[in-house]
Amino acid sequence: MKAAVVHDFTQPLVIEERPVPEPGPHQVRVRIEASGLCHTDIHAAHGDWPVRPTPPFVPGHEGVGIVEAAGAEVRHVRVGAIPWLADACGRCDHCVSGWETLCTRQHNSGYSVDGAYAEQALAHGDYVVPVPDGIDPLDAAPLSCAGVTTYKALKVSGAGPGTRVLVSGIGGLGHLALQYARLAGAETVAVDVTDDKLALARELGADHVLDARVQDVATEVQRLGGAHAAIALAVSNASFQAAYASLRRGGTLVLVALPAEGRLDLPVFDTVLNGTRVIGSIVGTRQDLAEVFRLHALGRTRVIRETRRLADVNTCFDEVLSGRTPARLVFDLR
Ligand code: NAD
Ligand code: ZN
Ligand code: ZN
Repeated sequence: MKAAVVHDFTQPLVIEERPVPEPGPHQVRVRIEASGLCHTDIHAAHGDWPVRPTPPFVPGHEGVGIVEAAGAEVRHVRVGAIPWLADACGRCDHCVSGWETLCTRQHNSGYSVDGAYAEQALAHGDYVVPVPDGIDPLDAAPLSCAGVTTYKALKVSGAGPGTRVLVSGIGGLGHLALQYARLAGAETVAVDVTDDKLALARELGADHVLDARVQDVATEVQRLGGAHAAIALAVSNASFQAAYASLRRGGTLVLVALPAEGRLDLPVFDTVLNGTRVIGSIVGTRQDLAEVFRLHALGRTRVIRETRRLADVNTCFDEVLSGRTPARLVFDLR
């Protein structure tokens, strides 16, 4: 089977022929039909973060496909999604209290274990998430990370009817965050720095659209009354600062994007006096992803994406970094 492999953080990925992996008793082998390109895969391939993956490795944590082989213990899934949370211990206080995404013994697809930039991939039978009938795999793939991550970020932000939500960065994650904010009943403010993404935000129904190249985001949002919640999805420290300064008193900043050297300068006095909450949010649980799929099956969300060939993975990385892409690129492996 073919896979795209990172051998060196400073070199392009290499398309290689690898042996078809055999599932263990608790695993499945998924014949990947669609595999989304998350900006995290670029961070992984470049070794951007303090904890680095160990080359050689196969990136990819938005993999969707047919379960073609299963260990003796796995029977319940025919079409599955391989998300970032490859597995967790299932026993710690985080796991048993609905916060498996915080388990310290978790593995991560396309990072600590090989991921979905491949024709076939292994997954843990308990952590591969069933994809309901009728969802296009090309949609299911981006929902498996971009969807579940922003759905969860909206949940923890406290957004609801009558609140004002700032979505900073209308890329793969942001175009779905905007839709979940609207579904929550919030007034939405979308921010980006490319004309195409600003146009996409308008098309998706954002109530206000701000161009961070030429507008001072915090001033504009404060003029509206300030944001109850700001979801930080742009790979830019300046955008975190702007999102923080856009909050109204009692507002919540949800940090999601993970730039190399990510930093937010937090003024203690303002944070205390304004009762500001700043929280980090990492992907979502299997249950969150099941909810994301259900919403999509009901027709409540639209995945904006273009397909590419896995062989073009390196030019696809350049496309994403240049900001030229539609919201998501998805490798079509069918
Ligand atoms: P993306 O490249 O598709 O989207 C980023 C968007 O931000 C682009 O539309 C870009 O034009 C816009 N942008 C750039 N600078 C900006 C600025 N100053 N102000 C406003 N917008 C700006 O990336 P993505 O796949 O959506 O991922 C975004 C980030 O989220 C990455 O760092 C990724 O690693 C991270 N991520 C985190 C989690 C998590 O669980 N916390 C999950 C998935 C991805
Ligand atoms: Zn991701
Ligand atoms: Zn655990």
